[in-house]
Amino acid sequence: MIDLHVHTVRCRHATGSVEEYVRAAADAGIDTIAFTDHLPLPEALLAADPAATGYAMPAAELPEYVAEVLEAKLRSARDGGPEVLLGIEADLHPGNEEHVRSLLGTYPFDIVLGSVHYVDDWAFDDPARTDGYAEWDLRELWERYFSDLAQAASTGLADVIGHADLVKKFCFVPEGDLTELYARAAASFAAAGCAVEVNAAGLRKPCRELYPSDAFLRELAREGVPVTIGSDAHSPSDVGAGFSQARTALLGAGYQSIVVFRDRVAQEVPL
Ligand code: ZN
Ligand code: FE
Ligand code: FE
Ligand code: ZN
Repeated sequence: MIDLHVHTVRCRHATGSVEEYVRAAADAGIDTIAFTDHLPLPEALLAADPAATGYAMPAAELPEYVAEVLEAKLRSARDGGPEVLLGIEADLHPGNEEHVRSLLGTYPFDIVLGSVHYVDDWAFDDPARTDGYAEWDLRELWERYFSDLAQAASTGLADVIGHADLVKKFCFVPEGDLTELYARAAASFAAAGCAVEVNAAGLRKPCRELYPSDAFLRELAREGVPVTIGSDAHSPSDVGAGFSQARTALLGAGYQSIVVFRDRVAQEVPL
């Protein structure tokens, strides 16, 4: 099994070192683990939103992060441990593209996750900021979120869209049928050539569901969008957590394989 989404202590809201995650992956029977810590946020955003210093590693640490993961990659290969991949989770909300492009350019990433955690200047997935939901008509919020996500996919900067229905995290879900919304999002990912991940962290959040939901996953399968699997672990004990549910959901939606990214190229792995 592969786990293509984990965080380390560097992002300021997770625990565990690279080494501890590699050991946890070995213990959990994970063959391939991708480190995807949060890409540093732009200075302007950090200045405007003091809470944001807790959302991602500081810019000064990016080179050390890359060096540390590359070193773990070599060491684990030498020691017969799990395969280690160098990844990053980039905030790809509108307006942040050039910042992301400039930071990504120079490093040998295997996989780039593109995520949307902000709608305008509101970090809607922060448990301390759920009061923001009261200011939205939920249908409009969801339309807006999925439109920003489609735009993120279209930048071509990400290989995989992270936690594609994160907006459901705190159970603020619009009334009525969402199939059309999911179908449009799936079509936009297919057109952009982006994969999505089945992210098991949702199982540990108030929504108590995988990201994406079964209904969304069916639309993704219909569009032939490739998928990866990630725990989005913020502590080593969560590596591989929820993967039997993820596998069941994928098989139920009609997937027979997933993909792993090496050097930013997708390679198929049977489920
Ligand atoms: Zn995080
Ligand atoms: Fe995220
Ligand atoms: Fe993450
Ligand atoms: Zn994440």
